[in-house]
Amino acid sequence: MEKKGYGVLHKIVLQGMKSGGLLDFHRVKTLFWRASNALSLDEEQWTSMLAIERVFKEINEKIKLYDVAIMSASCELTGEKFFMFLDMMETPAMRMETLFSKAELELFRKIMTAVLRKYEHFAVPVMDCKDMAREINARDFSIEMAEAFVQKMIGLHYFAKYYLDPKGPEYEITIGIRTIREFEPILREVYDDVMTNCHLCKMTMLHGHQCPKCSVFVHKACHEKYIKTWKTCPGCKTGMVKRVAKQMRLKTQHHQVHRIPRLLLRCQSCIQYQKNGG
Ligand SMILES: [Zn+2]
Ligand SMILES: [Zn+2]
Repeated sequence: MEKKGYGVLHKIVLQGMKSGGLLDFHRVKTLFWRASNALSLDEEQWTSMLAIERVFKEINEKIKLYDVAIMSASCELTGEKFFMFLDMMETPAMRMETLFSKAELELFRKIMTAVLRKYEHFAVPVMDCKDMAREINARDFSIEMAEAFVQKMIGLHYFAKYYLDPKGPEYEITIGIRTIREFEPILREVYDDVMTNCHLCKMTMLHGHQCPKCSVFVHKACHEKYIKTWKTCPGCKTGMVKRVAKQMRLKTQHHQVHRIPRLLLRCQSCIQYQKNGG
């Protein structure tokens, strides 16, 4: 690494994160590539995960006085990693009012409430979203526009696709990682009965893996990282099953047969539970 400390590259990256809001790893890498290229720096060096994390850390040191930060977050359902720019002083409502119409925001609120209050698996059928759009009394807000808005929100990670069968095309709508991070204070205040904390990273979460024995919740991404080293449940230390195929089948069975709201952690007691015909 040629230079140390906060510099022009940091400023370019911060600007990019600010305007992007939430970027996946590929787009973050592109941002670093462009910035290093513009400054005639070695792109190879400045686009490594190590360099990216170091630059974000240095930026955060600089901007923490202003209650803003760049943080990483993984999609609860896919485990995909993102980086997002978070302004703790600005309310999410303020931010969204500049981006969306009144009717769109009303639909967003309706869908969020339905996700958290109506269904025990925290996802609403696409048909329900259309019905909610019909209830909105706004001129110039057609069902087609509502559908386009939902898709846009999926793209922005305010919403996420919740697949009913991991292999099938059918999906429902749930709230995405961006909503969980940006609306965290509101979610903890109004929906604290359904929001929980990941046993591993301690962050607020909705969808994840749950151990049927000790009931701890963990993010899919945190869990997958954890079981690479530890073959036990992070809560009760019950041993894990090794065969991945068996685990996946089990998870699907649990999900479909019992409609348990969150995916189950794959531990030995889970197998017992299944064998006993539970
Ligand atoms: Zn976690
Ligand atoms: Zn456990």
